[in-house]
Amino acid sequence: MLHLRLLLPWGISIVLFMTMVSCETTSSRGNAWDHKLGGVAVDKKVPPVALLKEINLKQDMVRLGTAGRKRVRRMNVKYITIHSTQNYTGNAYNHALALKRGALTATKRVGGNRIGFLIWHFTIQDNIAIQHLPTNEQGEHADFDGPGNNYSIGIEMCEHHGNDLARTIDHTAKLTAYLMWEYKLPISSVKPHYHWPRRGCNPPNKDCPHFLLENGKPGTTWRWFLNRVQAEYSRLVPGPAPRI
Ligand SMILES: [Zn+2]
Repeated sequence: MLHLRLLLPWGISIVLFMTMVSCETTSSRGNAWDHKLGGVAVDKKVPPVALLKEINLKQDMVRLGTAGRKRVRRMNVKYITIHSTQNYTGNAYNHALALKRGALTATKRVGGNRIGFLIWHFTIQDNIAIQHLPTNEQGEHADFDGPGNNYSIGIEMCEHHGNDLARTIDHTAKLTAYLMWEYKLPISSVKPHYHWPRRGCNPPNKDCPHFLLENGKPGTTWRWFLNRVQAEYSRLVPGPAPRI
């Protein structure tokens, strides 16, 4: 009986904790992605490097001096920008190859694309995440000469047929949490591509990543995603966190 009494307060505090967490991660009840993924196991604490293992991160950098990496353009990381490819046939490997070959060109112009190529940092699908560019180098993925390119890490989520999109979103939340840890960034630094207006484009704010937005704008689904990132971040405990 004494044993039980001693245990009881613990039991209560654990139950309360779990309830708070589930409110946190399932705030948008009925969210289609939440239904597929379930909540984040926030009590399963891990060192940061474990998140990279969970998403199967591989580095396959664009060679320095070529394509979108003709020269190093150093970046002071302040944000993380989330995109989706809107490419229904290309997977992460296809994008990695296209970036390395310089196949993703863009018209270079003042106030527009600055290097003649598109380039970003990571492409994620359900079973792998591929890194194309070190996170301390600028990409060309968001808003031409704006803060989205000048200060943010670009993550593209794959949408090809056969890819498990829910799992892709889940892995994107893990990578985002890792990068927040690495660069000591708050959750407010995580932005959808939509956040960065593209000067000279109509509309300036892109519907990207479209499946995390409502009517082309951040709403309940985007807030759900941010909660998921925060939940993954809450799993982290000090430990190995390699610079990527
Ligand atoms: Zn985008």
